[in-house]
Amino acid sequence: MSLFAVPISKLSGIGKKREELFSKLNIHSVGDLIRFYPRTYENWSDVTLISEVTHGEKYVIKATVSEAVRTIRLSGGRIMCRVAVFDESGYMNLVFFNNRYIPSMLHYGETYLFYGRVMKEAIGYQMTSPEFSSIKDADSISPVYNLTAGLNNRVVTKAVREALSMLPEEIRDPIPYQILNQYHLCTLSYALENIHFPSDLRALEKARERLVFEELLVLNLGMRLLKSRVSEQTPLRMEKDYTAEFISSLPFELTRAQHNAIVDCVNDMMHKTSPMNRLIQGDVGSGKTAVCAAVCYQCVRNGYQAAFMAPTEILASQHYETFLHFFEDTDIKIELLTGSLSAAEKKRARERIESGDADIVIGTHAILSESTVFHRLGCAITDEQHRFGVDQRAKLASKGEQPHILVLSATPIPRTLGLIIYGDLDITVIDELPPGRTEIQTLLISSEKRDRALSFIRSQLSEGRQCYIVCPLVDEGESDLNSATDYAAELMLTHFRDIPVGILHGKMKSKDKDDVMRRFSSGEIMVLVSTTVVEVGVDVKNATVMMIENAERFGLSTLHQLRGRVGRGEHKSYCILVSDNESENTKLRLSTMCRTSNGFEIADMDLKLRGPGDFFGSRQHGLPKLSIADFSDTDTVSRSSDAAKELLEFSSDLSDPSLKGLRAEIRQLFENTENTMN
Ligand code: ADP
Ligand code: MG
Repeated sequence: MSLFAVPISKLSGIGKKREELFSKLNIHSVGDLIRFYPRTYENWSDVTLISEVTHGEKYVIKATVSEAVRTIRLSGGRIMCRVAVFDESGYMNLVFFNNRYIPSMLHYGETYLFYGRVMKEAIGYQMTSPEFSSIKDADSISPVYNLTAGLNNRVVTKAVREALSMLPEEIRDPIPYQILNQYHLCTLSYALENIHFPSDLRALEKARERLVFEELLVLNLGMRLLKSRVSEQTPLRMEKDYTAEFISSLPFELTRAQHNAIVDCVNDMMHKTSPMNRLIQGDVGSGKTAVCAAVCYQCVRNGYQAAFMAPTEILASQHYETFLHFFEDTDIKIELLTGSLSAAEKKRARERIESGDADIVIGTHAILSESTVFHRLGCAITDEQHRFGVDQRAKLASKGEQPHILVLSATPIPRTLGLIIYGDLDITVIDELPPGRTEIQTLLISSEKRDRALSFIRSQLSEGRQCYIVCPLVDEGESDLNSATDYAAELMLTHFRDIPVGILHGKMKSKDKDDVMRRFSSGEIMVLVSTTVVEVGVDVKNATVMMIENAERFGLSTLHQLRGRVGRGEHKSYCILVSDNESENTKLRLSTMCRTSNGFEIADMDLKLRGPGDFFGSRQHGLPKLSIADFSDTDTVSRSSDAAKELLEFSSDLSDPSLKGLRAEIRQLFENTENTMN
């Protein structure tokens, strides 16, 4: 019988009351308990002498109880227990609150391991409510579980131990043996034993790796099954690989990751029976555009057209310029199609697209319009995908005869969410930045220090660099937020009287925006005051400072994207976050920005602090609740996704009897979907 069918009350010491407490933790069965992994661990093997502790840190000490425990009654019916302990180097006081069992658990003259945070008090060092364990049954590493009031770590640990003992000698492993072997994973029994009671750190690592893999595999399979679409035969198999030819024309050497991404795409287009359906995820500045250009080149040389759609006009025209440059020594004809072209220009562009005169079409939503008809569309690429809805991707795919589809995204979608949004796509990760980038230094300042920041910016400008200043609003509203127009006006009158300042915001006409962007690009404008319209994709290598006003107003992913506008060239770059907001949450978010430039980490923090709303827009999505997998474990995500693919190739609906265990887990994971993550 499955342990998921054995109620937790079957365990010794678990009566009605504790059963209810466990159910608060969503643990109902013995199986649930076994899958209730520790939140963290205490490493009891790492013992510190009492004489060596310092205030505020956590330690394990090995000490002997020097007296009988004293119980002191406090107001409100609370109690406190106190006892002094010693080791060969000195004494320490221990206090415990509201646990009347302490006197019966800690015995005079016996030695225990204690683990807790040490505070310096008037009378010496003290540990408050330490965990403890008698020397003889001390595991070197012991689990710490998430708890609920009334349920302590001891009770949970003991229950888990008993639950594990109920596992049969041979557990049927849901992951088929071949996959375990191929991905070097330990067995389920080993993993379950060692995730709770690791024999050492390596065993813990192995156990965790296996369980994370398993959970992601299950999620992955579930998503793929949910979204599995009938893969049609593609009529667009490409004959020849032109990658080498393209690469030799590039002004720089591709990174290994860029190269791999191109190989993935070209393989899809040459060797798969169904159209390419791929997502390339790469942090800002990782060089996705060049990968795209290679894919377009491949299409064109094989006799097809390629379409490249960007979310904004600025970005579309920038890509257009970039492509003109990439392909300047070729006969490839590139067409720009955006909403701001005049009706006559659009008409002429569409004629060239329909006749096949245009090889590569770069543009905005205008590409999607009914009146855009392709001559022979081979591949449709969308940049910065999260700006486009899934329906728009579908619309682009409907142009031509099931073209190959490539989607580009900067990372700030946590990967597991990405899997959900892009569950039907194959994923390639560009996990490397082109060489020579220097870390962007990020500072958080209050508005009092703004003048100093502006002087710093001046000094950068005097070295010939350029700068972005981002404000949350366009025009002065009721609020005290900074607006781009007023801000720019003020700068022009004060600090930057002698410096060309430009303004860019979403309410401007496309032509004017393009014009400003072009002047910033060329260096004519030195300081660009803008709203978040510069967030996406623009590339000005000479810009070295990004100052963001009212930084608390922006999600971390937005801040990360904004920051990605600098640090693109050889010069050291800076990001200055200005905020007077004192809330803990804000401080945590903004300090995360200062601490790391890892897009995944930032996205995960954003997810934790603000929920998935930012990633999904206003739509509510129920997501499966994950118990151990970490969003940022990119390596395991892609390995498990490979395994999912292999399994589906082996048995397209997982109906093979050997996959029964996995099927059950998928059901279980997706049953847990409601009420999570919101
Ligand atoms: P993103 O992935 O954010 O779209 P881009 O494609 O805009 O990044 O590339 C960022 C910058 O890096 C561009 O100026 C581009 O020319 C440059 N770049 C891209 N790949 C390389 C490379 N392999 N070596 C040097 N520079 C590169
Ligand atoms: Mg880009």
